Order: sequence, then structure tokens, then C-alpha cells
Amino acid sequence: MQENCYLLRHVSNAAVLVDPGEDAADILELLKTTNSSIKAILLTHAHFDHVGAVQATREALKVNVWLHTDARGQYDQSHLAAKRWNMPFVQPEAPDHELNAGSWKLGELELEVLPTPGHAPGHVSLYSKAEGFVLSGDALFKSGIGRTDLPGSDHATLISSIKTQLFTLPGKTVVFSGHGEETTIDREIPNLSRFEV
Ligand SMILES: [Zn+2]
Ligand SMILES: [Zn+2]
Repeated sequence: MQENCYLLRHVSNAAVLVDPGEDAADILELLKTTNSSIKAILLTHAHFDHVGAVQATREALKVNVWLHTDARGQYDQSHLAAKRWNMPFVQPEAPDHELNAGSWKLGELELEVLPTPGHAPGHVSLYSKAEGFVLSGDALFKSGIGRTDLPGSDHATLISSIKTQLFTLPGKTVVFSGHGEETTIDREIPNLSRFEV
């Protein structure tokens, strides 16, 4: 599925892992080279391609998993979705904490949790005002937006999430998506009209 897993690391080396979707062994191996002290696993949403390496990484790193309340239904069913795609998958155990809208803080680590549903229930984007980036999950991509033909998706909700939560961020904000390359808010604003119906 070519899903992007992100490592966010503070200068103190405290770090979070976002959306470990697959290839847990590769992720853990790479982490060793980064001098990071992982404090938590955060999930933008619960599609199976974003949560497939959650169980292996949380056990190896001994950290808690954070997920929005409204994503819990899909999280619990993610093994069924993986099965429909014929993908090997390890069903993760229940998340430890709710990743709901507002400010998220753990030690030096600080992110703003922006509710961006539409592609999936309980989808969130993770914004760092200080560093000028947002992890947009599968809500917004370079030259694209998330699919809304999936169970629990809603097109109008996604458009509204993008307009109210993402396009209100500073234009220079770098957007790191769940799939594909990075972009910026400024670059994507003119593209949205193509997806509005
Ligand atoms: Zn998704
Ligand atoms: Zn995805």
C-alpha cells in the first residue's frame, strides 16, 4: 500500500512514531540508527495499512498507542479489512489512550490534534505550529484528497475537514501525507475545487 510511517523527533531525542502500517522489523531496525527515544505511537486513523505494525512496534518499544475515539470501530475490525485485500496482518490489541481534538503533550513533545474526518471516522491530522508541518494522514495528499468510497467515508465531511482544519493553517505549512510525497498548504489550496461536487 506504500503507506508512510513517520518518526517525529524532538531535539531531546524524545520521539513519536506515527502510523506504523507494515514492516515492523524494518521500522525497528531503522529506529536504531536514529538515536530516538520513542515515547508513544500515534495513529491518524485506523485503516489496516496504517495500523498493521502497531502490535509489534508497541511491544518492542514498550510504548502506548493513541487513537481517536471515533476510529475505534474500524480499528477493532481492521483484520477484516486486511483480509478483504488479502494482506497479511496482525490485529493490534486495544489502543491505550484517546487521541482527541486539542493539544497533545507528552514531556517535550507537543502536537495539535486536528479533527479531519471524512476519509475515515475519527481521522485526525497532527500539527506542529512550532515546526510548521502537519501530518495529514489520508485526508490530504499532494495533488489529491482521501478516498471517500470506503465504509465510514463521507465526501462532504472530508471537504469540510480540509477547508476548516487544514486550509486555515499558515500557507507555508509542510504537509506530510499518509501516502506519496510532501506538499504545502499553499500548493494544495488551488487543487481542492477539482474534488468538490
Ligand atoms: Zn486510509
Ligand atoms: Zn492509507
